[in-house]
Amino acid sequence: MKLKALIIEDNEQNMYMLNFLLINNGYEVIQAFNGLDGLKAAHEEIPDVILLDIQLPEMSGYDVARQLRSNHELDHVPIVAVTSHAMVGDREKAIESGATGYIEKPIDPDNFIKRLESYYTSELNQRKQL
Ligand code: MN
Repeated sequence: MKLKALIIEDNEQNMYMLNFLLINNGYEVIQAFNGLDGLKAAHEEIPDVILLDIQLPEMSGYDVARQLRSNHELDHVPIVAVTSHAMVGDREKAIESGATGYIEKPIDPDNFIKRLESYYTSELNQRKQL
């Protein structure tokens, strides 16, 4: 069974890259280009993991993370924040808002999946045993 990843990212190039890496590693991908669409997709699809850009128009990634965490159907889903290397404090704020972990931009394609999956290793192992 494929893992379902929801990407919430407003930048087309970053979306393309994240989508490419996830599809190549056997994920099913759902794309949302802003926070509201992301929340809607999360509620409808209950993904296995959410990749969340922090710098989003209108509703920030922090607000999206907080809303996801306030919903009992989604409060266990790993959220991996995609943060900008240049923005000091982004990572800490993302974790405070409910993110499980973070990956910094620019994305390093060679380490991306390993880094991503390190945030939900136990869930992955459980699935393999089923
Ligand atoms: Mn952005």
